[in-house]
Amino acid sequence: MSIPMHQLPEQQPSVWQPTSVEEAIQLKHKWGKDAVLVAGGTWLRTRWENGLAPIPQHFISLGRILVLSGLTVNSQGQVHIGPALSIAELMKNELVQQKCELLVQACSEIAAPSIRNLASIGGNVMTRTGDLIPALLVMDAQIQCTDGQNERTIGLKEWLTAPLDAPDEIMTGIIVQTGGAGSQDGKENAAKIPEDAKSTDGQLVVAEEPKSTHEFYFKVGRREAFTPSVVTVAGRISLQSDGTVTDIALAAGGGNAVPARFTALEAGMIGKPLNKAALQILHKGVITDFDAVADDYAGVAYRKQTAANLIMSECFKAWRKGGGAYAP
Ligand SMILES: Cc1cc2nc3c(=O)[nH]c(=O)nc-3n(C[C@H](O)[C@H](O)[C@H](O)COP(=O)(O)OP(=O)(O)OC[C@H]3O[C@@H](n4cnc5c(N)ncnc54)[C@H](O)[C@@H]3O)c2cc1C
Repeated sequence: MSIPMHQLPEQQPSVWQPTSVEEAIQLKHKWGKDAVLVAGGTWLRTRWENGLAPIPQHFISLGRILVLSGLTVNSQGQVHIGPALSIAELMKNELVQQKCELLVQACSEIAAPSIRNLASIGGNVMTRTGDLIPALLVMDAQIQCTDGQNERTIGLKEWLTAPLDAPDEIMTGIIVQTGGAGSQDGKENAAKIPEDAKSTDGQLVVAEEPKSTHEFYFKVGRREAFTPSVVTVAGRISLQSDGTVTDIALAAGGGNAVPARFTALEAGMIGKPLNKAALQILHKGVITDFDAVADDYAGVAYRKQTAANLIMSECFKAWRKGGGAYAP
């Protein structure tokens, strides 16, 4: 698709290539609504091509600001992802492959490789509907932003629900915690033995059962691959060997829905056994709580049902792996 002639601006847009965040902010302040920050430009392109937004006079490229394309890990196991890092680069990173399997899986579901070479992680999040967001929500990601005066770090969950009142902010980082989220596909994790698990004679008293953790990410589109999302779900659930839920994080999005966690449902499941009744309550709860948005291709009811079926079936798998399905 190309941009129709009548939508092209009279003057060729200027492309600015700042080398620091401060310079980019100054340019944004200078040109205001006539300027747009551009990372990969792949989402912006679709807006212009579909006539959803005018092409501005000034593009402020983030591509030369090196600090926005880095990836570092600190001693606490926090991975700091530069928002201008491309999806393809993130997927190739060995550390991310080892520690953030859910994120790598989400990346692999986005567009085609040629788009992933350009498309950035931050751009995906800034659209507020990107397919990476459900995975990042489940990983309890935080984002860092600055307006040139103040820097702030805010949970992605909170950022998504906050009013859009900071249009000149630049996202400078996405932070995810690794090491505590368990392993993919139900692999066993030994639970940490708490400090107070020692008796007075120094003998070890095992107070906590071993647990298993199951993670999942699914994107349902209008075809098998290279497709916009109709529904995207992600989750993580940890069970003790007796089937008690010790940790759960569930998120859904897709289409024009702003992805969100199912916080109330999660709270209702912690510390309780995962059984048939709990799965039924979960299914009903997802249908009620998922704020799906209809478009020309799929209605709200279909999206809610699909999200509920996917989430419930993945929790069922976690339950079955824990032996629950065969319990009396
Ligand atoms: C053919 C095609 C297929 C696609 N398929 C998918 C898909 O399957 N799933 C999906 O989620 N998306 C898809 N997209 C949309 C898009 O590619 C992704 O969302 C991508 O990750 C956006 O990143 P970008 O770097 O191109 O963002 P850009 O287009 O550069 O920017 C997106 C928005 O974020 C803002 N922005 C970017 N970086 C920053 C920053 N650091 N600070 C503040 N604001 C910033 C920009 O100003 C703009 O408003 C597709 C696009 C195309 C063209």
